[in-house]
Amino acid sequence: MVIDDRSGRPAGERTLTAGELAIARHLLVHGPSTRGDLGDRLNLSYASTSRAARALIEGGMASETLEGESLVGRPRQILTAVPGARHIVGCKLTADTAYGVVCDMFGNVKASARAALPAARPDGTVPVTGTARVIAQLATRLGRRVPSLDGIGVALGGIVTHRSWVREGTFLGWRDVDLAGPLRERTGLPVTVTNDVTALAREQLWFGAGRTHSTFGLITVGAGLGFGVVREGVAVGELIDNGHLLAHTPIDSRGPRCTLGHRGCVAAYLNREDIERRARIETGRPATLGDLIRARTAGDRTAARLLDDAGRALGHLIATLAGALQTTGIVLAGEDVAYLADTPAMNEAIADRLRPGPAETQTCTLDIITTPLTFEDWARGAAVVGIQHTLGAA
Ligand SMILES: [Zn+2]
Repeated sequence: MVIDDRSGRPAGERTLTAGELAIARHLLVHGPSTRGDLGDRLNLSYASTSRAARALIEGGMASETLEGESLVGRPRQILTAVPGARHIVGCKLTADTAYGVVCDMFGNVKASARAALPAARPDGTVPVTGTARVIAQLATRLGRRVPSLDGIGVALGGIVTHRSWVREGTFLGWRDVDLAGPLRERTGLPVTVTNDVTALAREQLWFGAGRTHSTFGLITVGAGLGFGVVREGVAVGELIDNGHLLAHTPIDSRGPRCTLGHRGCVAAYLNREDIERRARIETGRPATLGDLIRARTAGDRTAARLLDDAGRALGHLIATLAGALQTTGIVLAGEDVAYLADTPAMNEAIADRLRPGPAETQTCTLDIITTPLTFEDWARGAAVVGIQHTLGAA
């Protein structure tokens, strides 16, 4: 198969027209719809809707059924997306493992698998060629579980540009590495590489918070803080600041220092590494976040204070992001978020930030959505980006 270098798609493969893409996206995100409804919602003429619907049906992407003839007029034609029209492998890379899933068009996971990445070299870098080989093998394995494979999406922590180049691979020791190119050569499939939090934001845009909020923010709390932004239905592809402007928002000028030396910034309270460092300083012995959570349950006051501080910092972060984006929709995800989300400390911080003044009447309630997040969920995010890419979505 010949791949077009610029688009990363098989040469000659027709991507969807704007109208077809709008209809396909609507059917995937919101479910079956009549031609009339689609035209109204997407502001397409009846002729354009019919033309696009016909193309999607001929391409196997959608099917149409006629629904009960009404007394007047023609029967309603209901369009439905065909889940098995495309299958995409999503892969999340950590420092030592590739977690893979294969999904249909709706992002339903049909099978999952994992494989060890090659060991890091003495300088800490994980071999790129070996990594591409592992992902390609994983894709082949997962591809056997579905009729055919239409693309690969890869997600990893760090800075990614042009959906291909890993400028900074945080956990792999990579600098300016082209990952999509070698993977495309090995598999002959379209490949898209994305920052993992951005991939999650894109997944949420179609199959999560995006169904109810056209603008929303995403915060991940785990090994580091991560941010994703969707504005008016479009996911921001690359952050301008690697998340620094939000992660280092000042909270208390007399507070503890973060790893960068700021006093009392959000990261100083919320970053796992910083929490564990504070615990070591305050208690004189090493403690992981897990230790602190157990100690809090057992009634330990220092652990409770450190975790309350983290919850409060998360509340401030949510308030700042929601205010800056002017959205009520904030999605929380990440390994550590379950211990901090919806705690009294977090909720009090948000309530205090929203509290109206004596002469003010406007009130606001934030819609904070916590999503469970395993490595498989991260991989699914990568697959959804692959689906969007295959369909030609921005
Ligand atoms: Zn800081």
